[in-house]
Amino acid sequence: MRWTQTYIPTLREVPSEAELISHRYLLRGGFIRKLAAGVYIYLPMMQRVIDKFANIVRDEMNKAGAIEITMPVLHPAEIWQMSGRYETVGKEQMRLQDRHLHNLVLGGTHEEIVTYLLKGEVKSYKQLPLNLYQIQVKFRDEIRPRFGLMRGREFIMKDAYTFDVDENAFMVAYQKMVDAYFAIFRRAGLDTRKVESDTGAMGGKAAHEFMLIVDTDGGEQTLIFCDHCDYAANIEKATYHEASPPQIDAEILPLKEVDTPHASTIEEVTSFLKIDAKRLIKTLIYLADKKPVAALIRGDRELNLIKLKNHLGANEIDMAPAAIVEEVTESPVGYAGPVGLKNIPIIADPEVTRIRNAVTGANKNEKHLLNVNIDRDFAPSAVVEIVNAVPGEGCPRCNGHLTSKRGIEVGNTFMLGTKYSVSMEAHFLDAEGKERPFIMGSYGIGITRTPQAAIERYHDDKGIIWPKNIAPYLVEIIPLNYEKEEHKQVAEQIYQELVSNGIDCLIDDRLERAGVKFNDADLIGIPVRLVIGDKSLKIGKLEMKYRGSNEMEQVALGNVVAAVKGLLERIN
Ligand code: ATP
Ligand code: MG
Repeated sequence: MRWTQTYIPTLREVPSEAELISHRYLLRGGFIRKLAAGVYIYLPMMQRVIDKFANIVRDEMNKAGAIEITMPVLHPAEIWQMSGRYETVGKEQMRLQDRHLHNLVLGGTHEEIVTYLLKGEVKSYKQLPLNLYQIQVKFRDEIRPRFGLMRGREFIMKDAYTFDVDENAFMVAYQKMVDAYFAIFRRAGLDTRKVESDTGAMGGKAAHEFMLIVDTDGGEQTLIFCDHCDYAANIEKATYHEASPPQIDAEILPLKEVDTPHASTIEEVTSFLKIDAKRLIKTLIYLADKKPVAALIRGDRELNLIKLKNHLGANEIDMAPAAIVEEVTESPVGYAGPVGLKNIPIIADPEVTRIRNAVTGANKNEKHLLNVNIDRDFAPSAVVEIVNAVPGEGCPRCNGHLTSKRGIEVGNTFMLGTKYSVSMEAHFLDAEGKERPFIMGSYGIGITRTPQAAIERYHDDKGIIWPKNIAPYLVEIIPLNYEKEEHKQVAEQIYQELVSNGIDCLIDDRLERAGVKFNDADLIGIPVRLVIGDKSLKIGKLEMKYRGSNEMEQVALGNVVAAVKGLLERIN
């Protein structure tokens, strides 16, 4: 391809809206343009990247025995009502009406549609197993569309769905998908980690996420790893055991109310009362499906909203507004405590039950209680882990300790069980002629998110360093003076040789200064750069350089194809 024939509108200015380096490079490199919040146009270079990644995904899915189909994006609301998700998915679902005022949904995922497809059509165990997938646009009205292609409202996903006769067969299918995922990301030059995750709105029994570890702000997810065994989980799901639990030998002391003027935050209270935050019980008031609940956690911990939500079985959970907190605790915000708290469920983290002579808010303005003890002074309605795992604490599986890293979720796999087949009555007849629901799995990969994640992982201060298998082109040829007949001829000849060897190339045939061409080349990040200039031409050579290193190599004009192939072998 010639630069002047395609459309690569590079920008010198850094677009102010872009927070992440990968988002800035996509805009500056002329890969994408924004149409609306979370909605982007993919320009020619991005289209090539997407196609290359999608083809890797397609190839590995096919190898794993999955079959490609295409399901509609436009769904009748009734199908979502069959599973019950129409009521529970919440505002993330994009909805519309047609001219007959019929309710429709723009698909954000396709469990219902694929289950509807097979319901009544696949009647016998002999037709199973089945693994159907598609690569297609998805719509989700994300609360915060941001970071370019990372969290869009319209994006491309590969979604696959497996149907099996029983748990054993399902586990085989699931493992095949896990293996295919590792193979896909490896081919795309990305080293991913599989972590346990919450099943969220998808439901089902268990789930895993494939994470690309990054040390930039793009790592939206916090991940917890064990330093000893292979335990790995998203913070939403990660659990722990306390590495050094406090000794409970203190005597139970009488309850005492104290003045804590202007002290309502944890820091203010602990410094005013000169106590460790581990002695404090934080009382947080939340609204779970609009009903208030109190969550008790130790002063030094963070509430894990997902764990609380899962325990309550709620669809939506939000921090209670001040007016509700004041009504429930009969005091201003900042002084809530479990003692005397009436008429609302009190969910306590197990660590709270182990604090002897704790400090909590007194449900009175500027007052706290000392020597609060469970059972004598308050009784939680449930004791469940509702806090985040923390680095340094003990691994739930072994004697190791937890560490944490940041990651970007590029794919995930869900063990759905019979959630959709039961609710939608999708059954088959087993070998004994008995009716059974399908055992299902669902498997997603972000086709537009993953390439941006790759940039977040592989870049420098000049631009992108594409992994070769998802790069828009493998080679960029830069004739320093394309207007010179000799430069042009050599460039065209090398171009033809590479292309006929199956190596896709871009020639920068613009009549631009060398500096401009080099800057743009660094920005768009094509792995191999071939520079044609007077100095090396004089000795029958050109200069070859890998985008990921500073080393330049002189290559004889007759040996370019072999040299490029050799370099491509050595790089990621
Ligand atoms: P997240 O936790 O990031 O919201 P999710 O659990 O909602 O992701 P899935 O519904 O399983 O994700 O979607 C499968 C894959 O699609 C994800 O692993 C991710 O790579 C991609 N994806 C999900 N939401 C978006 C989005 N809003 N924009 C771009 N890609 C997305
Ligand atoms: Mg999501």
